[in-house]
Amino acid sequence: MEVLLLKRFIFKTLNIPRLQDLIRVKESELDDNKLYCFLCGNAITSTSERISVDGAHEHSFTNPHGYSFHIGCFRNAPGCIQEGIVTDDFSWFKGYSWRYALCADCQQHLGWIYDSQDQFYGLILDRLISTSEFN
Ligand SMILES: [Zn+2]
Repeated sequence: MEVLLLKRFIFKTLNIPRLQDLIRVKESELDDNKLYCFLCGNAITSTSERISVDGAHEHSFTNPHGYSFHIGCFRNAPGCIQEGIVTDDFSWFKGYSWRYALCADCQQHLGWIYDSQDQFYGLILDRLISTSEFN
C-alpha cells in the first residue's frame, strides 16, 4: 500500500504521462496546435486559443492553502467540463468569478473557468501536453 502511494506521488511529482493512456490518442488525431490532458490524452484546447489577461498569457498564483499554480489563459477549452459553485472568493483575476475546470474524460482538475463580461480558462500548464511531447 505504502509503495503504491509512493509510486503515485513520484508519478505526480515528475509529471510523467502514462504511456498506456496516451496511446489512446490516435496518430491521425494528433494536431500540432492541440494541447492534451497529461493524464488521459483527451484534447483540451489548442495553442490558437491562447490569450493574454491582465497583460500576460502565463500567470503564477498561490491559493489560500499554500498551493502554487502556473497557469496559461485560454479563450476556450472544449475538452473541459465545469465543476462546483461559481464564486468570486480569492479570485486571481479582479472582477472575475470562477469555478473548477476538469478534464471531460478523466475528471482531473486542470484549472479554472473565469467569468465576468467575458469568459476564459486558466489552465495549469504542466497538466497539458503538446503533440511534440508524445514523441
Ligand atoms: Zn484527462
